[in-house]
Parts: sequence; structure tokens; C-alpha cells
Amino acid sequence: MSATYRDALRAALLYLVLAALWLQVSDHLLSRFFDDSRELTHWQLINGYLLATISAALIFLARARLCGFLGIGAHLRERHSDRERLRQAAAVFDCTREGVLVTDHRGLIVHVNRAFIEITGYRRDEVIGQQPSLFKSGHHPPGFYQAMFATLEAEGEWSGEIWNRRKTGEIYPQWQTIRVIHDDSGRLSHYVAVFSDISAIKDSESELKHLAHHDPLTDLPNRLLFSDRAEQALASAQTHKRGCALLMLDLDHFKMINDSLGHNVGDRLLKAVATRLQALFGPGITLARLGGDEFAVLAESCPQPAQAAALAQRTLDALKEPVLVDGNQLFINASIGISLFPSDALSAEQLLRNADSALFKAKSSGRNGYALYTEELTAHAQQRVEIAFELRRAMEQEELRVYYQPVHDLQSGRLVGVEALVRWQHPQRGLVSPAEFIPIAERTGLIAEIDAWVMQQACRQMCQWQQSGVVLAFVAVNVSSRLFARRELYQQVAQVLHDTGLDPAYLELEVTESAVMDDPEVALEQMYRLRELGVRLAIDDFGTGYSSLLRLKRLPVQKLKIDQGFVAGLPWDEDDVAIVRVIIALARSMGMQVHAEGIEQAEQATFLLAQECDLGQGYWFGRPVSADRLDWAKTPLIG
Ligand code: C2E
Ligand code: MG
Ligand code: MG
Repeated sequence: MSATYRDALRAALLYLVLAALWLQVSDHLLSRFFDDSRELTHWQLINGYLLATISAALIFLARARLCGFLGIGAHLRERHSDRERLRQAAAVFDCTREGVLVTDHRGLIVHVNRAFIEITGYRRDEVIGQQPSLFKSGHHPPGFYQAMFATLEAEGEWSGEIWNRRKTGEIYPQWQTIRVIHDDSGRLSHYVAVFSDISAIKDSESELKHLAHHDPLTDLPNRLLFSDRAEQALASAQTHKRGCALLMLDLDHFKMINDSLGHNVGDRLLKAVATRLQALFGPGITLARLGGDEFAVLAESCPQPAQAAALAQRTLDALKEPVLVDGNQLFINASIGISLFPSDALSAEQLLRNADSALFKAKSSGRNGYALYTEELTAHAQQRVEIAFELRRAMEQEELRVYYQPVHDLQSGRLVGVEALVRWQHPQRGLVSPAEFIPIAERTGLIAEIDAWVMQQACRQMCQWQQSGVVLAFVAVNVSSRLFARRELYQQVAQVLHDTGLDPAYLELEVTESAVMDDPEVALEQMYRLRELGVRLAIDDFGTGYSSLLRLKRLPVQKLKIDQGFVAGLPWDEDDVAIVRVIIALARSMGMQVHAEGIEQAEQATFLLAQECDLGQGYWFGRPVSADRLDWAKTPLIG
């Protein structure tokens, strides 16, 4: 017997006993209190009602057990939890962000959820009874749907990306899973499709793709996309026997604008240049930003060098008008290198390389101009690569030499110091000028080793001179701008001084003006640290850079070396005279010594002395020579 049955039986018996007892007691009590038989019958009737009501209440309260006993409860409970489950399913069906579509076995839509309505834009009544082909976008070939149904049939499920059409007509991508539902007898009863709108993901994917191929600042194609387009253009030019031109453009002295006006202004200038150039070029010309202040232009139809040159000139002219940034009128020039297809190169990569060589030529021949690529440029580039290889060997084979050029006091004519200048004693090429290999050493990073070696040699030589009784105020050593920007310079100088035992007061470090102005903050920090060591500092080639006077004032420098370019025209060239006078006055006002280099004639020395320039150096005094060939006794009379 089940527990429910026993409980129900027990409750029923208890109830019968209690009811019988109650009737007995109540009858007895009522007949004692009421003699009048009419009144007694009345109260017995009320008692009967009361009992019936209580019984009904008890039965109502016990109905669950009773139903359980009668076998109805389980069924009701089942129906109740089924209803609960359905309610939950309906809530999920309606609240889910995925669109849900259910069709019957004939493929006619029987249910859609709220997300479906939101995604597709259709109302429920517009789609019920319709076929899902209503949403077809036309994006997929018929084979796509055939394959989908084949998978559904074989595996009962299909998932994939599918493009559908919203009610507005817009087509959009969705990720969809379709499942086949069978009834109890195994017959296909429904298809359920669940899908999500992935257009947002697709958008961010294409945004990422755009970012990977465009420069974020100007939105121009970047190097990657440009190379790609150039390859395509060359392939098409090859087929149609057309010529193309690739122009590489670099803004002149852009770094100066960045440094003096800040990177924000620099960025806006780049954007303005991009916009201006973009407006200049029509279809068939692609403009790209390769990085920094470097742009590239690809003209897909440019058969003659003259046309490419005209395009370059047009580009330079377009930049002549000032650019207005933040209320500042900025003037910016550019240099352009040109390389042509197919005469100069057959691949995009080679065209870029050639245009770069031509750009280098344009820059070194005075900027604000263009240069066409020539074969000699490749020869030069080749030579540069060879030198880079050989230079390392030269260091190991001890082919480098240090020469010393005398520096004289203009007043007394006495030799007071020397500048150490490196030379390369090449086994085949003879004495190679530093102008040829220092820039290459700077690019390959070998400069650090060379400068350290020259410094070591110069300090050792100075010690030897001192020991042999030669009194010089300083030995000057050139410090490359690359090395100057590095923090190890301080340790390197300290190490050399320690190794050679030279008193730091006799060592002068020459730093070029452009190295100082490249990154004035780092330069300032470096200079203060070097000054702590006790060495002297000089600014070399002064007048060629773009010193800010404010910054110059803060530098712990003892000397300005007037660049030989200004000395060359003395005393006849009015501009040179004016510039040299200004530099001398400037140095004086800042308590610095002035040193003129490149003095080749007596008149130059006389003029400089008259202007109260302190020191002079140049062929007129003496050329750079090896240490043993210095003429100590030479004391030319100036004036
Ligand atoms: P700089 O430091 O301005 O050196 C002066 C250059 O002018 C030297 O050329 C010198 O020989 C040359 N010069 C001196 N007097 C006259 C003159 O009267 N007329 C003419 N036309 N030239 C004169 P050099 O030795 O060919 O050096 C060229 C540049 O190479 C130097 O310019 C310096 O910037 C760099 N350099 C030389 N040695 C080193 C070195 O050891 N390390 C580094 N980093 N650079 C060096
Ligand atoms: Mg120098
Ligand atoms: Mg110099």
C-alpha cells in the first residue's frame, strides 16, 4: 500500500470518528439545553451545516493527498511542471538576443521570436506561413543552399555564415545554426533556425582591415597597401605597355617643426599636407604615407621622365603656399626622388629603393627640389654597402688612423690645441676621407666603436705630448650625433679618461649643432653629465643647424665653432661677414669662446682677429697630419 493511500485512509477514519463523536456530544448537549423540540431541531440543523462546512474545508485542505490517493495528483503535477517548463522556454525564446525561426516539415514558418522581428524588421504576421526563402539576399549561389540542405539531411544540423535580406532591403551577414527536429515516431516535424546578426563584427573586421592598410593620422594608404597597389599597377602597365612613375617625397626640416612647435602641430601639418596633395592628384595617381614625413606617389600612366619631373614640380609648387595650423602660418618644403617603370626598375620594391636613392640625391643637393634616379645612384648605393662591410674589417686590421689638425690662438698666433680627425688607410684606395665613411658608420652603428677608438688614441697621444713637455690647452674629439643621443657616452668618456689617465680638463668634445637640436632635452642632460666629468664642450659646425637661442643659452658649452662655410666668403661676402659677426657677438654675450674653422687665407684670419674671434683652424695654419708631423714651432703672424 502506498504512503499516500495509508495517509488518506488514516485521515478519513480519524475524520469519521471525530464526526461521529461530535454528533453524539452535540446531540446530547443540545437536548440538555433546549426543551422546545422546534428550537432543538433548528440548532441541530445549524450543527449539521457547521459539520458539513468543516468537512468541506478539511477535504479542500486535504485535496492534494486525496488527489494523490486517487492518482490524479501526479498527472496534475506533471502538467503543472510541463506548463512551467513551457513558460521558461517561451521566456528564453522571447528574451534571447538570437533570432529564432521554426518551420514545420514543409518548410513553412510557424514561430518566430522577438529578436527575429528586431533583426529582420518583419512583423510576426508577415512571416508566419511563409517560406524562409523570403529572406534570401541573392548573395549566395544556388549551390550554397543545396550544400546546406545536404548537410542538414546527413547530419541533422548545419552552422555557418549566411547573408540574408532585412525587410528594408539591406543585406546583412548572420551566423546561423539550423537543426532538424523529429517527432516520437522519428518523422521530420520541424526545422529550428537560431541566428545572430554579425554585421557589427563584420564592420569591426573591415575596420581592422582598413587600419592595417591605412595610416591612422592621414587615412592615406600605408606602405603595405601602397606596395600592393604598385605591384598591381606594374602588372597592368606591363600588359598594356605603359610607363609608370614612383615619386618619394620627404618634407624638409619637418623635425624642426615637431621639436619647436610640438608634435600636435607636426601631426596637423602632416594631415594638411596629405589633404593638399590628395586634392592635387586625380584618378590614376595614388598617394600614400610611408611613415614619418615620408610620402609616396604612384602615377600609373607616366611614359616619359619629363612627365614625372612635371608631376614632381607640380607637387613642390602645391606645397609653396603656407599651411595654416593653429593660427601659425607654416612654410614647408619637400624633396622628391623619382624612379620610373620600366626603365629604372621592374618591381615595386626596386622602384621604391631607387626613388629613395634619388630622394637622397635631392636632399643632398640642397633640398626643395627633385632628382631623377640614375644608374650612378645605384653604384653609389652599392659602394656604400661595400664600405659598410669593409669598415668592420678595417677596424680589426687596424687600418684607421688619427690625424691632428692644429688650432691657433689668433691673437698670439701660437698653436694651442689640436682637433683629432679620423682617416682610413685603405689597402687599395689609399687614404679615405671620413666624409665618405662616417655617415655609413653612423647608419650601421659602427660609429660608436670608431669614436671610442679615436677618443682613446687622442687622449693617449695627449698624455704622451704632455710627458714630452709639449703644452697644449686641449685635444678636440668629434662625437657623432648618434653616439651623443646615447646614454652610454658618459661611461665611455669616463672609461677612456680612466684608462689613459688624461686630465679631463684637456679633453674637448665637439658635438654638432644639429645633434644638439635633434633632441635638446636629451642633449642638455648629456651635456651636464659630461661637464660633471670635467671635460670641455664645443658646438661644431655652428650656424648650419637651427639653434634656438633660448636653448643655446641653457647649454653648458664653452665654445662655438663657426662652420667653415661662413669662413670661406670672408672678408668679401657681405652675408658671411654679417653672419660671422653675429655668431661672434652671440658667443661673447653667452661667455663662450669662438673658434673659426676652414681658414685658408691670411685675410680671413686677419678679419676674424679684428672681430675678436679667439681661435682659428684651417689649411692656412696647417692641414690635418699624423701626430709625428705636427709643426709645433709654427707661429704665423696675423694682421
Ligand atoms: P669637422 O669636425 O667640422 O672637421 C673639420 C673638417 O674640415 C675636417 O675634414 C678638416 O680636415 C676640414 N678642414 C680643416 N681645415 C680646412 C680648410 O682650410 N679647408 C677645407 N676645405 N677643409 C678644412 P675631415 O677630416 O675630412 O672631416 C670631415 C668631418 O668628418 C669632420 O668635420 C667631422 O664631422 C667628421 N669626423 C672626422 N673625424 C671624426 C671622428 O673621429 N668621429 C666623428 N664622429 N666624426 C669625425
Ligand atoms: Mg669637428
Ligand atoms: Mg666642423
